[in-house]
Amino acid sequence: MELNLTIKARLKFSDPKDALAFQEVCEQYRQACNYVSDYVFNHDFELNSVKLNEVLYHDVRQRFHLKSQLTQSTFRTVTARYKTVQTQLCRNSNKYDSGKKDGDGKPVYITVQKDLNWLWHPIQFSQPQADLVRNRDWSIVDNGKTFSINTLKGRVKCGFFLKGFEEYLDGTWAFGLAKLVKSGKHWFLHISVKKEIAEMELTDIKHVVGIDRGLRQLVTTYDEKDQTAFYNGNAVLKKRGHYKELRRSLQARNTRNSKRRIRKMESRENRWMADVNHCLSKTLVSLYGSDTVFVLEDLIGVRFATEQVAKAQRYEQVSWAFFQFGQMLTYKAKKVGSMVVEVSAAYTSQRCPKCGTIKKSNRDKHHHEYHCPCGYRSNDDRVGAMNIQQLGTQYVSGVAHPKFEKQQANS
Ligand SMILES: [Zn+2]
Repeated sequence: MELNLTIKARLKFSDPKDALAFQEVCEQYRQACNYVSDYVFNHDFELNSVKLNEVLYHDVRQRFHLKSQLTQSTFRTVTARYKTVQTQLCRNSNKYDSGKKDGDGKPVYITVQKDLNWLWHPIQFSQPQADLVRNRDWSIVDNGKTFSINTLKGRVKCGFFLKGFEEYLDGTWAFGLAKLVKSGKHWFLHISVKKEIAEMELTDIKHVVGIDRGLRQLVTTYDEKDQTAFYNGNAVLKKRGHYKELRRSLQARNTRNSKRRIRKMESRENRWMADVNHCLSKTLVSLYGSDTVFVLEDLIGVRFATEQVAKAQRYEQVSWAFFQFGQMLTYKAKKVGSMVVEVSAAYTSQRCPKCGTIKKSNRDKHHHEYHCPCGYRSNDDRVGAMNIQQLGTQYVSGVAHPKFEKQQANS
């Protein structure tokens, strides 16, 4: 199995002229991408980078003074961006009410598949950037202390800040494409790295850990030894509340300065939430170690109504934070030879983990308690984690898509 990730290094310059050389190459690259994008837009969305190379190579090279490898990279950058947009359009296809009704009297909708023809303008590349091929456009020199990066004026050597970079130099990681980008005042190199790791065998599992995500308890875990742990979300809720207040007062002012401060605050909030997720996933992975199956609910269909998340914006923030936690846990688990599986969220908060009865009213949301007529009584977050853990156990025993089904009530 291949583990892929992107690591981000902030570059530091000994000579300010070096930054100018980056600016220049990135600007030329950006303009070249827009030129190629225009061509793609006007030629039936030709997304074959080999064909684009045949037609445009000399033209782009001469116009934008790019070296051979960078010229070829523009074709890949542009086609990749169009393909991403294509996927997004397809996902957001329009639904129209046909005005007709089906047998049950429900309206019949017509789905109109969206494709690239829905674009009104060629995709624009507005940020200066350059996609660099390893050993052609960029390389690591000086025992891993310096990057050497190709510009229009030749190679530029620069140092960088990247915590834990040594880890990637142990010979097990392969370096790939790197993106040179400017963000704020600083220049960054976003480097793709990959590593071959052994796929976890489902035969030698040490732990199966069910994880319930929420707001009050950020994470509740339940494992095969009946151990429950709560990772409290109060600090997060409090901080969210603080940011929300701040946003409201800034929005009320509605000046250019207040808008800028909102943007700054939002990126601070995102960084802080990423940090919380990072710590949480790290704690869980180091607690259980290798050969662990972490079980999460898939986020499709997870609703937060019970947690009083009223605003759509807040819903998005929460689901983004949950998604990010899943991503981080997956990556960290893989690194130590463990895995994350996603199971269906259906009925995990309504089912009694002892007798299997599914009943919504067994859960008392106000007192955060689950109470089943069979006599079982527990904290509701814990019940969620227990049910998720049970689905994980089903997965381990060979059920590909474990899911709770509501039995038809006969009595
Ligand atoms: Zn029960």
